[in-house]
Amino acid sequence: MKQIEGVMYQTNAPKGIDPDGIYFVQVDTTKCEGCGACEEVCATGAIQSINDDYIHQVVDTAACMNCGQCLVSCPYGAIYEGVSYVDEIFEKLKDPDTVVVSMPAPAVRYGLGECFGGAPGAYVGQQMHAALRKLGFDYIWDNEFAADVTIMEEGTELINRVKNAGKKDTLPLPQFTSCCPGWMKFVESYHPDLLPHISTCKSPIGMLGALAKTYGAHETHTPAKKMYTVSIMPCIAKKYEGLRPEMADSGYRDIDATINTRELAYMIKKAGIDFNTLPGEDPDPVLGESTGAATIFGTSGGVMEAALRLPTRHSPASI
Ligand code: SF4
Ligand code: SF4
Repeated sequence: MKQIEGVMYQTNAPKGIDPDGIYFVQVDTTKCEGCGACEEVCATGAIQSINDDYIHQVVDTAACMNCGQCLVSCPYGAIYEGVSYVDEIFEKLKDPDTVVVSMPAPAVRYGLGECFGGAPGAYVGQQMHAALRKLGFDYIWDNEFAADVTIMEEGTELINRVKNAGKKDTLPLPQFTSCCPGWMKFVESYHPDLLPHISTCKSPIGMLGALAKTYGAHETHTPAKKMYTVSIMPCIAKKYEGLRPEMADSGYRDIDATINTRELAYMIKKAGIDFNTLPGEDPDPVLGESTGAATIFGTSGGVMEAALRLPTRHSPASI
């Protein structure tokens, strides 16, 4: 275990093990005051009192959705993230035999600026790309590319469900998104009857990890086995998603590491990069390009607006 800015982390991220058995959030029982705020916000009962002093703990990792709501609700700062890849990523960035690829989510560029004194929600996408390049990432690819792919796939699937509604072998309406791994685990664990309503598409990061080590590797003449893909996400549940056993369609682990916005900010600060004076830069070609529809994924209502913009001749407006 290691102390970083008051947070205890596992220094080695777990690999090749069942993510349902991992504590992605944990309680520092020496800081817990037994107020119960975490239990009140937990939708599944995964965090409970464990003794007469009302000290709380995550008692069931399989029941925990890794949503992080208990962590942000604890008034005493007693809940921390149990998994971090930060040290491993710094090592990979120094290794000349590893090609390190960045894959930041749309939302990260709306949260990162606040870590450097900016206004909450301010867009800092171009400075984020520059900071990733300065950190030493070999390819600045971007999950906005895969957000566009997702919206084309999910939108097309929705249109087909609507057009074929009521016909034999057609998946039912309404269609729900599969993008959120907390939501996915909740449905799988508590409402498996809803699974036919979930989009059959992967989340954007699920797509980009596989695309990076197949199409991206081919286009850049990089052996996929040398590639190390870093998912940069706004939430803890994405660490769970990256470790799901089925995320290996490329023939390798599609996602090698997952960090959140705060951890990226920590890495930028630790590397001594003056974020606020960075000139804006573009991502790299092949898997870095995207449309405005992908950018608005990171804002409330953005996924739905992106779906409604779907530029196909079968657009939702025509059905
Ligand atoms: S919210 Fe924090 S202090 Fe309160 S019971 Fe939960 S872990 Fe303990
Ligand atoms: S992360 Fe979410 S599901 Fe897990 S214990 Fe905390 S509030 Fe409950």
